[in-house]
Amino acid sequence: MPNFSLDDEVFFRAAEKFPTPFHLYDEQGIRLRARRLKAAFAWCKDFREYFAVKALPNPTVLRILKEEGCGLDCSSATELTLAKACGFSGEEIILSANAMPPEEFAQARALDAFINLDDLSDVELLRTNGGFPSCVCLRYNPGGQFSIGNTIMGNPGEAKYGMTLPQLKEALTVLKKEGVTSFGLHAFLASNTIDPAYYPGLAELLMTLGRDLAAELGMKFAFVDLSGGISIPYKPEDQEPDIEQVGEGVRKVYEKLFPEGGVAIKTELGRWMTGPCGWLVTHAVHEKKIYRDYIGVDACAVNLMRPAMYGAYHHVTVCGKRDLPADHVYDITGSLCENNDKFAWERKLPEIKIGDLLLIHDTGAHGSAMGYNYNGRLRGAEVLYTADGDYRLIRRAETAADYFATLDVDPAYSTISPGR
Ligand SMILES: *Cc1c(COP(=O)(O)O)cnc(C)c1O
Repeated sequence: MPNFSLDDEVFFRAAEKFPTPFHLYDEQGIRLRARRLKAAFAWCKDFREYFAVKALPNPTVLRILKEEGCGLDCSSATELTLAKACGFSGEEIILSANAMPPEEFAQARALDAFINLDDLSDVELLRTNGGFPSCVCLRYNPGGQFSIGNTIMGNPGEAKYGMTLPQLKEALTVLKKEGVTSFGLHAFLASNTIDPAYYPGLAELLMTLGRDLAAELGMKFAFVDLSGGISIPYKPEDQEPDIEQVGEGVRKVYEKLFPEGGVAIKTELGRWMTGPCGWLVTHAVHEKKIYRDYIGVDACAVNLMRPAMYGAYHHVTVCGKRDLPADHVYDITGSLCENNDKFAWERKLPEIKIGDLLLIHDTGAHGSAMGYNYNGRLRGAEVLYTADGDYRLIRRAETAADYFATLDVDPAYSTISPGR
């Protein structure tokens, strides 16, 4: 069931203050989720969540997460810069990227961040771009299918990430020679799963491997990084994964393999942390009846790409009409000249009138951040609904001037008058 923790009134008031479309984020909701996760892993002395910046790269939100004790998982130079600007440093940052420009290693080393190596060749790149820290994280890809019991969780054999086991051993052997004394292991083997068995299954795999590699190579196994992948109930019939049960499941594995403790646990949840705490707020501006009934809204795929890109389900509600019967069937569309620019296909909803305020739910992760500028459409604002009930603009909407800014290489640019 999607998140219904905020009343429609909250969104009506927001839409009086800010022009649609915009994403609204619930500060209190984000804080509560960060605290729930921390509590679920409180049994592990050295647990930390490294929020995946790519999911919601807004500095106001990142600072809120810092106050809640989270670190950041960064995937690019720009995200490292953002992390630094928000006051994160050292052990509060992990750089995990693949096929990245090697200078990004140097930038991460300058911040004294953890570095997660994706490939054997990264070892040499790290040597020449910042040098080796005493502890290095390695990303593992076991290949094939990743199953827990009879459930197939993911297809690592088709994923571009991580190293094979022989490559892991080779990387560790080289790193040890270079004076690296301890290592962490990371893997991301199922994306977008609400199955609470995922983290415990992954933990068992990584912890067993880490214990064995440490014994074989004579290095210290410092931490396991369970990465992201735990999802949220996007659909009404979806169950919220019980994060307390997830934490307990990991605990059982941990206590079996490391009764003495001594190994830290890191997570890099993005979607689970902020996904349910964001809504894309948009007005119905157009209605069209041909072979189907279409409602056009003032948001489009540049504000939220997941439905267009993956056919992903996002729940849609009409503000003030929550309790009316869903006796109409609509496609909810944006304005792009691109037929997959829809937020919903043949969705049962109450009757929608032009001017109605619509909410696209669960846009707090991989929402605004995935936006783009196709068709010259501009990305919308981000608004924080604060813990004390105020509204704060935390990113303004793009303007035409922003769109034209990268044309400053063209002398004719000076003749373009944005906004006219
Ligand atoms: C994307 C990503 C995450 C976050 O994934 P979610 O599905 O949002 O939990 C975490 N770690 C890495 C390395 C990623 O690429």
